[in-house]
Amino acid sequence: MKAIVVRQFGEPKVMKIEEVPAPTVGASQLLVRIKAAGVNPVDTYIRSGNYVFKPQLPYTPGKDAAGIVEAIGSEVKKFSVGDRVFLSGSLTGTYAQFALCEENQVHHLPDHISFEEGAALFIPYATAYRALFQKAKACKGEIILIHGASGGVGIAAIQWAKNACLTVIATAGSEEGRKLVKDQGANFVFDHSKDDYLNEIASVFPNGVNLILEMLANQNLAKDFNVLSKFGRIVIVGSRGTLNFDPRLTMTKDATIYGMSLFNANDSEMAEIINSIEKGLTDGFLKPVVGKKFPLELASEAHHDVIEKRAYGKIILIP
Ligand code: NAP
Repeated sequence: MKAIVVRQFGEPKVMKIEEVPAPTVGASQLLVRIKAAGVNPVDTYIRSGNYVFKPQLPYTPGKDAAGIVEAIGSEVKKFSVGDRVFLSGSLTGTYAQFALCEENQVHHLPDHISFEEGAALFIPYATAYRALFQKAKACKGEIILIHGASGGVGIAAIQWAKNACLTVIATAGSEEGRKLVKDQGANFVFDHSKDDYLNEIASVFPNGVNLILEMLANQNLAKDFNVLSKFGRIVIVGSRGTLNFDPRLTMTKDATIYGMSLFNANDSEMAEIINSIEKGLTDGFLKPVVGKKFPLELASEAHHDVIEKRAYGKIILIP
């Protein structure tokens, strides 16, 4: 099979397409023929070698994907060959024509969700769910600022928050991104590339917002307090550097800052997340937005774009 193989950490070009043996299933495992793989920022951090978690080299990147069950082990109960599925990780990496998975990494994909949409599900929707409901305990009627809403996690957060009856303020740095988040149902949309956008938000919401989902905390965390209400909560979803921060900001507002990593979710939290995603797909309020698509061999371009370009939904690789 064809797979992207990383033999040394570094720039996107360290990802090369190679012909490698297809994995064979153990008793508890499934082999999934990948129809689309999702590209997440974390894939780029891992590939660079600067992430807390470093896989053993060589490795095949990718955690998200959707496809068709190709083979099952003798102990697999919930799936048959030919089932449409999406993945929440794999044993062998998803930037490939096939991925080997444990049964708990495989989930049924409803017929009305395409493989490309299925590849955009796990990390973005699970992260947004964990931030909103498991960390910040978002409630009906609250006002949320999704600070960076045009990408994978942001779009997912809009869909979860709208379904939970929150008022959604969304930001994006491009005109296409702002149109996208408006079309997704954001009640108010602002441009985070403008100097005065936080003043604009403050003028519309003089009492501040209850909750902020922060995608770039190193740039925004201190400024977020200009638009946070008393007793407000901020969830740090993304950060790419350090900042000077005055802790007194948290005192005057009795504010709470949550850090979060999806990978810290325990088994019962993960089960709740997966059940909620499956219900959201069935009920129809979750629907990923697929942006750019690249053939598998251009994974390095996809990694460049996910970090360097303005976001528009999810970037997908097609094997
Ligand atoms: P993505 O699809 O690349 O989207 C990035 C988002 O950040 C876009 O909406 C982008 O908006 C926005 N952004 C850029 N500049 C910004 C600024 N100055 N202020 C606010 N937002 C800004 O990435 P993603 O998959 O949504 O992930 C978002 C972040 O969360 C990444 O840093 C990722 O590593 C992190 N993450 C963390 C976890 C976790 O467990 N903690 C899990 C998944 C993702 P424009 O492009 O429109 O400017």
